[in-house]
Amino acid sequence: MEYSSTRNKSVKVTASQAIVKGISDEGGLFVPAEFPEITLDKLNELSTFGYKDRAKYVLSLYLTDFTKEELDYCVEGAYADGKFSSKEIAPLYNLKGNFVQELWRGPTCAFKDMALQLLPYLLTVSASKSAKDKKIVILVATSGDTGKAALEGFKDVKNTQILVFYPNDGVSPMQKLQMTTQEGENVSVCAIKGNFDDAQSGVKSIFTNKEIAEKLMENNMQFSSANSINWGRLVPQIVYYISAYCDLIKNGNIKAGDKINIVVPTGNFGNILAAYYAKQMGLPVNKFICASNKNNVLTDFIKTGEYDKNRKFYTTSSPSMDILISSNLERLLYEIFEKNDEAVKNCMSSLSENGKYIIPKEVHEKLLEDFDAGCCDDTQTLETIKSTYEKEDYLLDTHTAVAVKVYDEYVEKTGDKTPTVIASTANPYKFSKSVLSAIAPDEKVEDEFDTVDAISRISGVECPTQLATLKGKKPRFTQICEKSEMTEVVFNMLGI
Ligand SMILES: *Cc1c(COP(=O)(O)O)cnc(C)c1O
Repeated sequence: MEYSSTRNKSVKVTASQAIVKGISDEGGLFVPAEFPEITLDKLNELSTFGYKDRAKYVLSLYLTDFTKEELDYCVEGAYADGKFSSKEIAPLYNLKGNFVQELWRGPTCAFKDMALQLLPYLLTVSASKSAKDKKIVILVATSGDTGKAALEGFKDVKNTQILVFYPNDGVSPMQKLQMTTQEGENVSVCAIKGNFDDAQSGVKSIFTNKEIAEKLMENNMQFSSANSINWGRLVPQIVYYISAYCDLIKNGNIKAGDKINIVVPTGNFGNILAAYYAKQMGLPVNKFICASNKNNVLTDFIKTGEYDKNRKFYTTSSPSMDILISSNLERLLYEIFEKNDEAVKNCMSSLSENGKYIIPKEVHEKLLEDFDAGCCDDTQTLETIKSTYEKEDYLLDTHTAVAVKVYDEYVEKTGDKTPTVIASTANPYKFSKSVLSAIAPDEKVEDEFDTVDAISRISGVECPTQLATLKGKKPRFTQICEKSEMTEVVFNMLGI
């Protein structure tokens, strides 16, 4: 299978080249030239498999330049026993007759682990094919969860070095502590004075800067990305939507061919895009419901066909979705424009010049066949955590709560009774302060770990060890830089 670029269709690379490069030279994102098919018979068959075997099958359709042995090695390593707190890896929880897919059972308690446990394997195997003996330098811009998941995935992986930039005031205390205490010889972390969009734009411009690339080349190094612009991040995410469908078949909730809805709390549009890709392969999906917090640029886009990032940026209780420039939307545009790279390029130039673009009416109508969207503010998010906890005895994190709220409104509006999978993207303890204020607003606490203790005492839900053991740990990385200093920070870390 070949991959081309959203901004230049004539680009042709293999899967391993796409994964090593991360982003195409002209700034476009790598996309599969066509989608492999998954039949209903195959879905029935996969429903009798465990997660790892489902993953191996789906990945083999996309990573055609990987041998079977290489894929086995990658998948067995990434999802090895003990790494995830559920044998099923991404189990479904029945909430009011719908299915919450718990994607946060990995080492850093966010859904990013689903892909970032696998990416280092995919990347090192890919590099052994196309960039032999070069050191791979991973640059990450994070809204909180990607950073930690990438650090954990890449720590002490041979021939790689990783540097994470996060917005100093834009992550939760637990997220910050997770990153600044990271262990490993090849890792660095730096805060920036700015928001996630600033971090992401900075990283993207370092990636596409020719002089910087040459300087790395002279030192036998090459950049790659662990953000969801990297194909190696997206392809593992396709797997779990197919796996959710297989679980529904296995448990007798649906039969192969029945349609489902998929609700995703969305920021950079990677997670929901993976679900859309699964549908392109043949997964029977009725609607994708894109849920946003108060930063509702995607809600407006899906409803009107106009993307306009010229608006106030809010810091919310769901920080991993505080984003105004959703990079992976570019890949969706490419599909709904029927692979018209010129049209995508025009939208993206308009976005960088004017901060907005409008898609033609017929393209927007096509979008609406697949997508619905909604948003909610922090008050509604906390109310949803509270009511779900009180009525269903289930503790949601702030991001998943946004999805649950938006979905409830969708059902109210449409009466749609299609069985629905809701992507649950983080463990509630990553956002303790908000969660506690939702379930026990009068509780008085001093610091992050008092908050953790209070939630655990009140709810009886245990805090995952990997978060609980951060208590009292001294931060190892304390640097804060200006947006304009990011390149310097990168060179310093690399010692070049
Ligand atoms: C990253 C993240 C999101 C947003 O996912 P995208 O793929 O960027 O849309 C939602 N919730 C949590 C907890 C996250 O970490």
